[in-house]
Amino acid sequence: MSNLDRQATLSVCGGRGFVPGEPVRELLSPRKVQLGESTEVRRLLPNLGRRMIGAWAFVDHYGPDDIAGEPGMQVPPHPHMGLQTVSWLHEGEVLHRDSTGSRQTVRPGELGLMTSGGAISHSEESPAEHARYLHGAQLWIALPEAHRTVEPHFQHHADLPTVRAPVLTATVILGELDGALSPGTTYSPLVGADLDLTAGAETALPLDPDFEYAVLAMSGEASVDGVPVQPGSMLYLGCGRTELPLRAVSDAGLMLLGGEPFAEEIVMWWNFIGRSNEDIAQARSDWMTGSRFGEVKGYDGDPLPAPELPPVPLKPRGRVR
Ligand code: MN
Repeated sequence: MSNLDRQATLSVCGGRGFVPGEPVRELLSPRKVQLGESTEVRRLLPNLGRRMIGAWAFVDHYGPDDIAGEPGMQVPPHPHMGLQTVSWLHEGEVLHRDSTGSRQTVRPGELGLMTSGGAISHSEESPAEHARYLHGAQLWIALPEAHRTVEPHFQHHADLPTVRAPVLTATVILGELDGALSPGTTYSPLVGADLDLTAGAETALPLDPDFEYAVLAMSGEASVDGVPVQPGSMLYLGCGRTELPLRAVSDAGLMLLGGEPFAEEIVMWWNFIGRSNEDIAQARSDWMTGSRFGEVKGYDGDPLPAPELPPVPLKPRGRVR
């Protein structure tokens, strides 16, 4: 998905300056963002109170939306730099096309993982024939300096490992959880998992005390470390935890996101992650002049133009809240 916000703001994130070393419970409220004419998403990251969770730098939750007889998701070709995108669905399907020639439908429980390296472009759309409901999350992961210009590529994994308990099925989207390892390629220590809880569940997940974590509530009625979480909200959990207590009142869906605090400071604007204002300005100029980001074939519509850059350039720095 693209950041379609026409007033894209330059945001500076990363750095260990404000990652708490101990467990915390910060409930993050979503910001509603309009994507195109009909789709509204709830943006959890970046958030006023929290910019990153490990290398996770962007989280949108959308749906469930009834798109029967409607176009559904229609995100025209747009560029990315310095990040990976994760498409994760609970309902519906999304057709992905990119400038490396990928054309892939992603369905619930399947990982669509695009690694931009220095430059890629892609489109995402609900196929003409689509399910009635669309419900999912779109997430970005910042690439560390050493891998920022890795060869752009797309991975699709339909058979992800799971961790099963009587009241919980955890699907490992990226990284490792309780000994189960996702086949998706990662470039810094992190984890992403989908948690499917049965009504009445009272259980705990093993965590890595060196990671910081958050839980995104997707559906149902659940509590995380004693805090009730509503669908579309996210609970930030800090570091220093060896396990995470979970309870479900009804059947519930959660996403666990975590990682080693991202030490590098980054600059994020529109669909780009760079290290300086110059990186960002160059990427914007290259997209607008049709160079570097390649071409998405087969999408019925024009590419997305970039918004205007903000007048005041920012340098990356820490301790920004
Ligand atoms: Mn995108």
